[in-house]
Amino acid sequence: MKWSSSHIPTLREAPQEAEVVSHQLMMRAGMIRKLAAGIYSFLPLGWKVIFKTEAIIREEMNRSGAQEVQLPFVQPKELWEESGRWSLYAKEMARLKDRHEHDFCLQPTSEEAITDLVRRDVKSYRQLPLNFYQIQTKFRDEIRPRFGIMRGREFIMKDAYSFDIDEASAIKSYEEMRKAYRRIFTRTGLNFKPVDADTGAIGGSRSEEFTVLADSGEDEIVSCESCDYGANQEKATAKIKAPEASALQNLEEFATPGLKTIEDLGKSLSLSTSALMKTMIATDSEGRCIVVLLRGDHQLHEVKLGALLSKQKNLKGVRLATDEELRIWKLPKGSLGPANFPRENFSKGVLLVVDDAISESASYIGGANKEGFHFRNIQLTRDAKVDVKGTIRSVQAGESCPNCGRDLKIFRGIEVGHVFYLGKKYSEAMKCEVTDESGKLKPIEMGCYGIGVGRTVAACIEQNHDKDGIIWPLSMAPYELAIISLGEGAAVGEAEKLYQEFRAAGVDVIWDDRSASPGVKLKDVDLVGIPYQIIVGEKGLKNQQVEWKIRAGSLKEFVALTEIREKVLRILSEDRETLKKKAMSIL
Ligand code: ATP
Ligand code: MG
Repeated sequence: MKWSSSHIPTLREAPQEAEVVSHQLMMRAGMIRKLAAGIYSFLPLGWKVIFKTEAIIREEMNRSGAQEVQLPFVQPKELWEESGRWSLYAKEMARLKDRHEHDFCLQPTSEEAITDLVRRDVKSYRQLPLNFYQIQTKFRDEIRPRFGIMRGREFIMKDAYSFDIDEASAIKSYEEMRKAYRRIFTRTGLNFKPVDADTGAIGGSRSEEFTVLADSGEDEIVSCESCDYGANQEKATAKIKAPEASALQNLEEFATPGLKTIEDLGKSLSLSTSALMKTMIATDSEGRCIVVLLRGDHQLHEVKLGALLSKQKNLKGVRLATDEELRIWKLPKGSLGPANFPRENFSKGVLLVVDDAISESASYIGGANKEGFHFRNIQLTRDAKVDVKGTIRSVQAGESCPNCGRDLKIFRGIEVGHVFYLGKKYSEAMKCEVTDESGKLKPIEMGCYGIGVGRTVAACIEQNHDKDGIIWPLSMAPYELAIISLGEGAAVGEAEKLYQEFRAAGVDVIWDDRSASPGVKLKDVDLVGIPYQIIVGEKGLKNQQVEWKIRAGSLKEFVALTEIREKVLRILSEDRETLKKKAMSIL
C-alpha cells in the first residue's frame, strides 16, 4: 500500500477526553473515531489490526476444534424470557420494538441464541461434544463507557459455547479453551495471566479471566510471584496470621464520644486499627439485617460479600444499608458491634457474616450498639453467633498466598478474555437435552468463552508504546514493514523498487511516498507503530545504503542496498515464527 493513497489521518494531539494511552494513540494514529459515547468507527489502519487479531483468534479456535457460526445481532424477547435474563439484565441490555410491537434486544452475549440453535438439531449424545464460536458485534449500554474501545457500548467479541454430555467431558472442553486462549494471547505478544474470577450473575462454577497487566486496568489482580496463583480481587483469598487466642475477660463498656471512624477510635486508644473490629450493616432484596464484621484495618469487598451470601444462604441483591435504613432500624452508625446486638428488634432475624481474617477466639474492641460507647474484650465464641464466615475483604499486598504461603502482590489488570464453565444453567432452563447411552433425556453441560477483540488491541497498545507512539508486535501490526522515501530525488525510485520487491515476496508493506517533510514522515511511521522500517534517503544512497530501523528498541543502522532485501526477509520470517512457536508449546 502507498501511504499517499491510504486514509491515515494522524493527529498531533489526542482529544482531551482520551484518558488512557491506548485511547490517545488509537485516535492519534488515525485508527478509530468516535461516533457517540462508547460507539466508534474503525478507520482502515484500525480495522487492519482488528482483522489480524481476529485471524489469530480464528486460527486457534479452529485448531481447538471449535466451529465458526454467526448468530443474529437482534434477538427476540421470548428467547431471553426462557432463560430468565430478559428481566435479570437491567439497563445494560438495549431493547427495541419492531413495527408489530414485538420486543427484541441487541445481543449483549449469546448463550440463549446458541442454546436454541443446538436444541433444534442435536438430539443424541453421539452428536457431542460440540463447540461453536462467532466473532461479532455485541451491544451493552454500559453506565460508563470509557477508554475508547476498551470499554465501549458497541464492541466486537469472540464468543464461544461448548456442549458436552457430562461434567467430565465439559471440563475437558473448558481446559481446551483455556489452552486455546493461552495460545491466542501468546501470539498477540501480550504479557497476560489467567486468574480466578467470580462467577457473578451468569452462574456456573468454574471461571477464569485472562488479564493483561497494565496500570490503566480497571481490575485489581492478586497474584503470587512464587507459584501461579492469581485471582481477581473479586475472588481472591489469602492466608493471614491469626492473632493469638486471648483469655476470656469480661465485656467492658467505655465511652467514646464523638469518635465516628475506626481511625479516630484507634488514635484515641493508641491502638493499631487491626485490634479493632469494624461493623457494617448490609441488607438484601428481602430487607434482612446483615451484620458484617471485618478487622479494623481491612476494607469490605461488596462483590465478595454478595457472592458468599448468595452461595451459602441463597440471598439476592445484597448491598450495604443506607444511613436512612440504619436510622429506621435504630442502629447507631459508628458504635455498632456484634456483642449485645439488638437481634430482638428484627422479626426476620439477623445474619452475622464474619471475614476470615477475624479470629473467633481473639479479643477485639468493637461498638456497643449504643451511641458513643464501645466494648473491650469482645470474643465471638462467647458474644455472638457467627452465621457465615469467608473472605469478604479486599486482600492486601503482603498477605500470604493461599497455595504456597509466600507474599501476594497486587496489580492492575485489563480483562481481555473470560472462560466459564456454565453447567446446566441454560440447558435446563431452555430444555436443551439429548438422549444418553441408556436412552434417557439429559440436559447438556455447557461452557462459554469470550474475548474482547477491540479490548485486546487496546491492551496491546497499553503494554507496547513509548513517547513517540505505538510499538506493535509483528503479529498485530497494521503493516509489517514501512519503506520511507525522503526527498524527491533518487530516493523515490529506489524506494519504489524495494516496495515492489517486498510486495512480491508477500510482505505486508506500506511505502510512505508522500511529499511531506522527513520530520513528518518519520514521526508518523513511529506514531502508527510499524515494527520494521527502511528509510531511503539521498545521504545513504550516495554510499549505496539505506537506513534500517527496528521500532522496538534503539537499533538504527545503515545497510547496503544489495543486502537489505535478504536481511529483512530473514528477520521477518524469524519474527513471524517466534510467538507462534511459543504458542505451539501449549497444545
Ligand atoms: P467487564 O467486567 O470488563 O465489564 P464482563 O465480565 O462483563 O467485562 P464478559 O461478559 O466476560 O465481560 O465478556 C467477554 C469479554 O468481552 C471480556 O473479557 C472483555 O474482553 C470483552 N468486553 C466486555 N465488555 C466490554 C466492553 N464494554 N467493551 C469492550 N470489550 C468488552
Ligand atoms: Mg467477565
